[in-house]
Amino acid sequence: MANIIIAPGRYIQGQGELNNIGKYAQPLGTKAFVLISKSGYDRVGETVKKSFEAARCSVYFEYFNGECCKTEINRLKARFDELGCDVCVGIGGGKIHDTAKALAYYVKKPVVVVPTIAGTDAPCSALSVIYTDEGVFEEYLWLPANPNVVLVDTDVVSKAPARLLVSGMGDALATYFEAKATADADAATCAGGKVTRAALVLARACYDTLLADGLKARLAVEQHVCTPAVENIIEANTYLSGIGFESGGLAGAHAIHNGFTVAPETHKMYHGEKVAFGTLVQLVLQNADMEQIEEVLDFCMSVGLPTTLADLGMENPTEETLRTVAQAAAAPGETIHNMPMEVTADKVYAAILAADALGRAYK
Ligand SMILES: [Zn+2]
Repeated sequence: MANIIIAPGRYIQGQGELNNIGKYAQPLGTKAFVLISKSGYDRVGETVKKSFEAARCSVYFEYFNGECCKTEINRLKARFDELGCDVCVGIGGGKIHDTAKALAYYVKKPVVVVPTIAGTDAPCSALSVIYTDEGVFEEYLWLPANPNVVLVDTDVVSKAPARLLVSGMGDALATYFEAKATADADAATCAGGKVTRAALVLARACYDTLLADGLKARLAVEQHVCTPAVENIIEANTYLSGIGFESGGLAGAHAIHNGFTVAPETHKMYHGEKVAFGTLVQLVLQNADMEQIEEVLDFCMSVGLPTTLADLGMENPTEETLRTVAQAAAAPGETIHNMPMEVTADKVYAAILAADALGRAYK
């Protein structure tokens, strides 16, 4: 099997860069179809409109219905064709990005992804997660290409709630440990090949950036300002973690996250918050040295990521619940089997309890 790394065609990040969206989209098409929420339009619609006009492009705004599902994608496809557009743009959060990427795939046109939060590493990937109309996970839509352009205006992102940026750090925290585990196991990644040296270096840079700038960034966005630390964390959460997970590989942390989604108590937690605890469980599973575990615990506590089951909303979980979580995390086909050792539901169950005890002992 070959070594493969994939990435968006162009990644642009900076303060006020949304003013240039027309310039960046223009080489891809001159009739832009912009998928956005009502509140997103109120915040940035005027800026986007002016920018496309300055680039002599026409622009149509379409409000997102709220779910990345086949009904919505088909509705948008009909609208896109009717208007005769030639480039898709998705401005907002993860579900809007995934819908815009899926739409671009079905209409066979380029796509520009504009995250207004740095809460996940989805913007750069060649993947859309499709849900049913009711919001239940349906399938992964693996796309033949990454977005043509990912454009991040850091003024916009730094005004989003701090908890979203912190959750993005939780998602990014797993990246290095999962890529390292995948490489050690000589397993395949979401990019359809084995881990490149380049992907491992990006994943390591992601982790180092979190340790160096995580706390500074959280404190700055709580004041709704953008500083160099915020810029670095936005790049870590969006680009380094995006390439890192897709071409570096997923292993224990995300599988354990998926396991926790079966427990209703955790439903009010964000993706990255559950992934952060999943990272701790993975470290226990692979018996990482204490210095490494303490570094991760310190980081989580400094930025406000969960380190115990209680932090995840599971105050007094029953053994049955935790065994169900462990079972789901170790299900056949789960990425936990990219770990460089044999993993069973019993081992995951033990690691969850031990990680929780470490978190509590450390508080
Ligand atoms: Zn993730």
